[in-house]
Amino acid sequence: MVREKRLERSRALPSTGERIGIVGGGIAGLTAARALRASGAARVIVFEREADVGGKCCTVRIADRDYELGAAIISPLYTHVRRLMHATSTSWSPVASIAYVSPNGAIQSYVIPPGMDRHFVSFGAESARCLAEMLRARALWRPGFAHLADDLHVPFETWAEHRGYRELADIVRPWFTGFGYGYLEEMPAAYVLKYMTVWGFPFAQLPGVGVRGLCARVARELDDVRTGTEVRRIVRGDDGVMLETSAGRVELDRVVLACPLDDALAFLDATDEERALFQRIRTIDFRVVAASVSGLPARPFTFCVPNMHRSGAGEPVFWYRRWPDRDVETFYVIEDGSPSLDRTAKRVEDAVRRLGGRTHEIHDVRAWRYFPHVDGAAIEEGFYARLESLQGVNRTFYAGELLSFPTLETVTSYSFDLVRRHVAARARGHHAARWT
Ligand SMILES: Cc1cc2nc3c(=O)[nH]c(=O)nc-3n(C[C@H](O)[C@H](O)[C@H](O)COP(=O)(O)OP(=O)(O)OC[C@H]3O[C@@H](n4cnc5c(N)ncnc54)[C@H](O)[C@@H]3O)c2cc1C
Repeated sequence: MVREKRLERSRALPSTGERIGIVGGGIAGLTAARALRASGAARVIVFEREADVGGKCCTVRIADRDYELGAAIISPLYTHVRRLMHATSTSWSPVASIAYVSPNGAIQSYVIPPGMDRHFVSFGAESARCLAEMLRARALWRPGFAHLADDLHVPFETWAEHRGYRELADIVRPWFTGFGYGYLEEMPAAYVLKYMTVWGFPFAQLPGVGVRGLCARVARELDDVRTGTEVRRIVRGDDGVMLETSAGRVELDRVVLACPLDDALAFLDATDEERALFQRIRTIDFRVVAASVSGLPARPFTFCVPNMHRSGAGEPVFWYRRWPDRDVETFYVIEDGSPSLDRTAKRVEDAVRRLGGRTHEIHDVRAWRYFPHVDGAAIEEGFYARLESLQGVNRTFYAGELLSFPTLETVTSYSFDLVRRHVAARARGHHAARWT
């Protein structure tokens, strides 16, 4: 029986045959489950609240094609994701064509951000200098945020200015703010640099199955994935972990929280330290509007850089035409103040009109509580060192976006690394570990 009050502080690694529950069937939870299964270290059960696995990997059908309302794009640096794709026979196709437009629809540039053509030499020189600096910062390339340099809590723009980078923010902004990660004048440099470690051309998409299809294929190879099963209470004790779910109670040896950790406070018997850390989490209200439109430049990727400051909140920062022979675009909007979904859709329609186009039909609107992160003060106070020091305490591990930054590659590599570091360590040497 699990005793509610006496919380175990042991960090003992699991022995072969332990039962490990994973809360959350997004790509972080599924990857952790896959790595655990491959290591032979544990019997794994994945609990997913929704009817399908995938979470923010959210591929939908509109008419006869698949579209992404969540993760859409991978880069050549997504090595862990590509291994998952290879193992599940999931194919991809490159996306190369990019345009930058002003809010009134004038094309500002192709491929490189507006204005960069005039500063081509410094653009190249700064990119190379920054890459060299990043390569020297070894901790940046390891999964997660532990051991990062002290000065990375400052906003990225400040960090770049201090180092004499004059163009860097303009180079990165479309790919950071356009992909919903907030504003460079506000976001701590740690997050922007972490993102830059997986950023590279040419980008690719997964047409046909979509990113949710990749998740479904990963899930299919697992032994026990319980979709439609919400975890409603977690009680950790000396002898194990009790999960109360919408389908009944489950007794486990360990639990991996691969769900939003601020939400987990509602069902976790959180310690004071967990509560103190998770209460500092912030998110971004990132919305996706899928609409049939005409009259816009038919490029796969279009960025609207002037909207990429807080004053542009509510306006589309980026739109994505997945299928060149279809008129459906997905528009990406960072909202401020939680307006209704209808209001977001209406503003996209207005923006399309100003761009010189017409909206024929709104197919879907999604609002995501995106990019769980903390502010610079929390990073400076050692938020990530404290969070990492909890791994394994109380029979509990943590995975997902907060720990690693929200891209498919960063969450996936973190989950693999977590299993390698904490969970499968005892099994190593006894089993031929197969990580993908
Ligand atoms: C609009 C958008 C566009 C994006 N584009 C890209 C992109 O192009 N490229 C890229 O690399 N990344 C992209 N991302 C980021 C990427 O999708 C995410 O970082 C990644 O999918 C997060 O995976 P996760 O498993 O950590 O979290 P999630 O996907 O959020 O999974 C968490 C899961 O936990 C489940 N859950 C929560 N509470 C419970 C509970 N109590 N019981 C059971 N289950 C529970 C949820 O239902 C969910 O399925 C994008 C994200 C969004 C929203």
